[in-house]
Amino acid sequence: MVTITDKTNINYSELLKRPVEYNPEIRVSVQEIIEKVRVQGDSALRLLTKKFDGIDIDRFEVDEQTIASSQNQVGENLKAAIEIAARNIERFHSAQKVSDVEVATMPGVSCKLVYRLLERVGLYVPGGTAPLISTVLMLGVPAKVAGCKELIVCTPPPVNPIILYACSLVGAKVFTVGGAQAIAAMAFGTETIPRVDKIFGPGNNYVTEAKMQVSAMGIPIDIPAGPSELLVIADESAIPQFVAADLLSQAEHGADSQVVLISNCNSIINETLDEINKQVKNLPRMNIALKALENSYAIKVETVERAIEISNTYAPEHLILAVASPEKYETMIKNAGSVFMGNYTPESAGDYASGTNHTLPTSGFARSWGGVNLLSFTKTITYQSITPEGIQELGNCIVELANAERLTAHANAVKLRMEKLSNQS
Ligand SMILES: [Zn+2]
Repeated sequence: MVTITDKTNINYSELLKRPVEYNPEIRVSVQEIIEKVRVQGDSALRLLTKKFDGIDIDRFEVDEQTIASSQNQVGENLKAAIEIAARNIERFHSAQKVSDVEVATMPGVSCKLVYRLLERVGLYVPGGTAPLISTVLMLGVPAKVAGCKELIVCTPPPVNPIILYACSLVGAKVFTVGGAQAIAAMAFGTETIPRVDKIFGPGNNYVTEAKMQVSAMGIPIDIPAGPSELLVIADESAIPQFVAADLLSQAEHGADSQVVLISNCNSIINETLDEINKQVKNLPRMNIALKALENSYAIKVETVERAIEISNTYAPEHLILAVASPEKYETMIKNAGSVFMGNYTPESAGDYASGTNHTLPTSGFARSWGGVNLLSFTKTITYQSITPEGIQELGNCIVELANAERLTAHANAVKLRMEKLSNQS
């Protein structure tokens, strides 16, 4: 971890730039995969699954019996933990329901905005060594709360029974297909995989690139995803052991993760760095964490306020306020995905079980994006209704504007109605 002392002439947006990688080869091969799946459907999926996963698949959908039998392959303690996490996520997202809006903008002119759920959503769940139960819960539970009728999960073969169990809890249909081809299948539909209204979920570079490409083609996605990040602001009340553990918990996500510690206290920085060196040795993912720490920083500042200023420039995905009375600073936070308040609020809580969503903006996108929430599974429709009195009230305004834009038919649509009304009276 690189240690630096804050000087006002340091350009933090330059210094804390995320390690971005742009790979034109990935772009081209993803483009080809999408095109193949779009045109050839299932037969392309079979070939690509054989090529990338080395598996012959006849039927992509996991049958109900296999899903049901996953029940017996999950330990009771894990089941209980999944239940608590799911309940908390459900509680927090249920409370996010918003009401429709209806306003008379003028006498006789009524406007309405209503929320409608997305009927069918697609969730991508990455494969690999660790089963990402939390991904299924963080996306599946809010989709269920929102009322989405169909949940489609795509995940690479072979599918872990724990994933199947979590999918059964949220009532998702599961298809064993992974990578960019899975994203293409959900975006355009194949003979067996239905086309979805929006695609959610994390993934490797290919999956992320595929999401970006289909979103450019008009299929919405949750958030542009990048490597995970954490910024900790610690004052003299922080507990170095905790801060070190939190920084490592984020560093172990991936070699490209980034963690930043900002403190107004030299001894907190030094003790935290010592603790990191101690704790990292006991991590099975030590090498990944060490790699992530290479592009990470500890910054000494004069005040907590200055630390928040730097954090707002960085716009972290996760922000921990390991300070006395963190609520004092709440309104100063302008850019962050999710904020963890005080010494007993670890970032892991938000990753798994407190109830907030862990699908958050990375790479500085927190400047303009928020994380996934209940509204991510909805869209809006507006309605308007105008009475004869209303059109007389508003008509001249519309005619004036339409004429100014030289759109005569638009003006006529109003004039004709106004004329009819004045002939009647
Ligand atoms: Zn994490």
